[in-house]
Amino acid sequence: MDCLFCKIIAGEIPSNALYEDEKMYAFYDIDPQSPVHFLVIPKKHIASVDDLEEEDAQLVGEIFLKIKELAKKENLDNGYRVITNIGEDGGQTVPHLHFHVLGGRSLQWPPG
Ligand code: AMP
Ligand code: ZN
Repeated sequence: MDCLFCKIIAGEIPSNALYEDEKMYAFYDIDPQSPVHFLVIPKKHIASVDDLEEEDAQLVGEIFLKIKELAKKENLDNGYRVITNIGEDGGQTVPHLHFHVLGGRSLQWPPG
């Protein structure tokens, strides 16, 4: 499949790993928007939240528990933000479900 993040999971495109297990992969964003900015993705190709199925519920729950753990590992004790962009209006550029984890500075709200 011609998917950038599937290629990253397969090791065909290099990335800076933070965590990996049989279900998910976490790596640092190539264009960080805050001092800490990493992505957590399922290894299963799911295009976005809009494509989630009932059977993915546990996987998504496990990803969030891992996000909490990785945020601690990255010393985001003062808070952080989890973002998943969906489709064109959501600003999604890579059509493989990913959760941005941003922290290390005070983030603005609302987003632009
Ligand atoms: P989104 O715009 O929500 O689809 O987010 C895609 C993210 O992937 C952006 O923050 C990009 O900087 C990031 N990205 C694109 N290519 C790579 C790559 N090769 N390694 C790490 N992050 C990437
Ligand atoms: Zn993919």
